[in-house]
Amino acid sequence: MVPIPRPVGEQLLLRVEGCGVCGSDIPRIFELGTSRQRYPLIIGHEFGGTIVEVGEGADQSLVGKRGAVFPCIPCGTCDSCLSANYAMCEDYDYLGSRSDGGFAEYCLVPSAWHFVESKNPSLPGEALGMTEPCTVAQHAIREGGVTAGMTVLVMGAGPIGIMSARWAQLFGASVVLSEIVEEKCEFARAHGCDVVNSSQIDLIERVHELTNGKGVDVVIEGTGAGAALGQAIECVRTFGTIVMMGNPANDTTIKLMQHSQVLRKELKLQGTWNSHYADAPINEWRYTVRMLDEGKMKVTDLITHRSSLDDLPALCEGINDRSILICKAMYVPEEK
Ligand SMILES: [Zn+2]
Ligand SMILES: [Zn+2]
Repeated sequence: MVPIPRPVGEQLLLRVEGCGVCGSDIPRIFELGTSRQRYPLIIGHEFGGTIVEVGEGADQSLVGKRGAVFPCIPCGTCDSCLSANYAMCEDYDYLGSRSDGGFAEYCLVPSAWHFVESKNPSLPGEALGMTEPCTVAQHAIREGGVTAGMTVLVMGAGPIGIMSARWAQLFGASVVLSEIVEEKCEFARAHGCDVVNSSQIDLIERVHELTNGKGVDVVIEGTGAGAALGQAIECVRTFGTIVMMGNPANDTTIKLMQHSQVLRKELKLQGTWNSHYADAPINEWRYTVRMLDEGKMKVTDLITHRSSLDDLPALCEGINDRSILICKAMYVPEEK
């Protein structure tokens, strides 16, 4: 138990309505610890809720407003911050990995700058908790330059893969997903995606069939596996783009022929990291919340597991030892 924090200065006190369990939280809990070894620490960085109190230096009219929280606290002085590329900050703090985050009833938010307001009072709190991963997916689609009329392959049918596919569709592209775990294929299919089980079907052949032998315009590689990157190179068209989104767990090796194809097809290998929060050219977070508010982006159907604070440790253990297969797991506080 910790006391409810009190906001001072520009701080906001948020009553958390939903906080997602991120893939990165599981190693953070069971192996790595927090990045600055700050303990005790409340983790959880994918959250939103209602502002219930503000410090004396904050806009009092914020009380009662609902929204998502941008968890990154950039230093504000490094070159990346000065060019508004906050995800690349060299010395950032972070709610939920370096400072207290969203797996709690209340969370202190440093200032209104971090608050992305929802204008739809009927948007569920758990949708606010999906804003962060949904925006990461949107950023990958933008980094790939996906636009109307394009063909896109998304590799990996986890929550970010499915949301990437949904953004690509929203942006006017035709999308196919690939996945090697049959249960995940079935889940994605049941949630409106066109999915190839690439452990059963030759993905490269299938993609060439779907694109008249040309290959897709853009691949979103969401697995981080070397074999998948190799397949991505074979699936993408000449002058195409591969967005590298999945975090690698091992050294990446690709075949000689695939390496040659990167050159011969003049491919673009584009990294993607987090999301863009500055207002120019577009604040991707505000765009996500707007699309959620308007019902154009769907996210809550991907939440397969909901947990109270008390049951959260058991849920995380189950995810860690793989006895529980999730799409998205979320802490949702019990109604009081
Ligand atoms: Zn995350
Ligand atoms: Zn910085």
